[in-house]
Amino acid sequence: MALDIHLPTVLFLHQTSFMLGALVFVQLRRQSSGTRGLGLLALAFAFLAAAYTFTASSAHAGHIELPALVRPHATMLFAALGYSLLWAGFIELAGRRRWQQNRLVLVLPLGLSLVGIASGFPYDPMLRGAVYYVFASLALAVAGYRVLRNARIEPLPSRRPLAICMGLGALFYAVRLAGLLSGSDWLVNVAEVFFIEILCNFGMALLTVTLVNERSQRRLQRMAQTDPLTGVGNRRWFLSQLPPQPGADAALVLIDLDHFKQINDRFGHATGDEVLVACAQYVQGMLREHDAFARYGGEEFVLYLPEVSSAEALQVADRLRQGIATLVCEHQGQRVPVSASMGVAMAHPQDTQWQAVLHRADQALYAAKSAGRNRVESDNTKG
Ligand code: GH3
Ligand code: MG
Ligand code: MG
Repeated sequence: MALDIHLPTVLFLHQTSFMLGALVFVQLRRQSSGTRGLGLLALAFAFLAAAYTFTASSAHAGHIELPALVRPHATMLFAALGYSLLWAGFIELAGRRRWQQNRLVLVLPLGLSLVGIASGFPYDPMLRGAVYYVFASLALAVAGYRVLRNARIEPLPSRRPLAICMGLGALFYAVRLAGLLSGSDWLVNVAEVFFIEILCNFGMALLTVTLVNERSQRRLQRMAQTDPLTGVGNRRWFLSQLPPQPGADAALVLIDLDHFKQINDRFGHATGDEVLVACAQYVQGMLREHDAFARYGGEEFVLYLPEVSSAEALQVADRLRQGIATLVCEHQGQRVPVSASMGVAMAHPQDTQWQAVLHRADQALYAAKSAGRNRVESDNTKG
């Protein structure tokens, strides 16, 4: 069923959708200075808007009259550059790759233009159209794939809809190409073609805004849960990792570095910081998958061990204590003595809050300190 769409209006909206897309990306770039790829996307949409401005019929508002000799070349160059930049922009937005790693982005459109000038093939509307569809379809397919694939390193809910939108766009252009090459434009009428492209442009711009917002929210959330010095979780994160009720067979271990004030006084605050980082990273590296470890405050850390017996919890803590005592931290060639005292407490069936378990671990820690430091004590109260 054909839609009854007024062609000049849809052509005008089509061009507007590229310009609006470019503005959205410029604005987004200003707001989120850390996000890469947005400048390229703005440029891509601006180039595509320009390509359509050159190519549009003179009945259409916004049309720019270029000399007939130049117009096909300019149209093809701008369209090819536009889709190459769109590909590069989404690759950067999607992950870690820099677009400069693939110079085809510029080489391909420029090379193609030179071939076009030498051979004159852009004067054939069918060949020009074919080039446009090949670029559009490939750029959207490859970039859409990258948007989806990088979900493994950064899972964001908007990745899948954005990739689907780009995939549908790629499919649409591929079908258009097949129609063009087979000589039968059997799929849709011209107005519908442009209408679908408009939807695709709006979809990409909108979902890119969503992706950038989701990314910055994730970054803020991570910052709110991470200790900036050591890079391990903070107390807020730790408490959020604990099950709502303390279950049996779970232990909490409080870890407190010994004579830390003296370390600061003797070796300086910066060395104290290095010791904190070394200890935190060491313990973090020793954990099982479901354990949780965080900086509880100052020179104190806390460890959650699910599914352990009291003997196992003690064993784990003592292994960590020994490991910390063998960490090598130096200041001006002098070894900084590092050790920790630990208090272990098991969760009891009657505990309704973790606070009770933490309190017992703190008492055990106090006992370890009183007994001479660099040791592990466990809470012996029975549940
Ligand atoms: P104890 O053996 O009894 O545990 O004594 P301590 O000196 O380790 O404990 P105390 O609580 O007296 O001192 C802790 C010190 O840790 C005081 C504080 O300045 C220092 N501190 C807290 N946070 C940081 C930090 O982020 N970096 C550095 N370098 N020092 C810190
Ligand atoms: Mg302390
Ligand atoms: Mg201490």
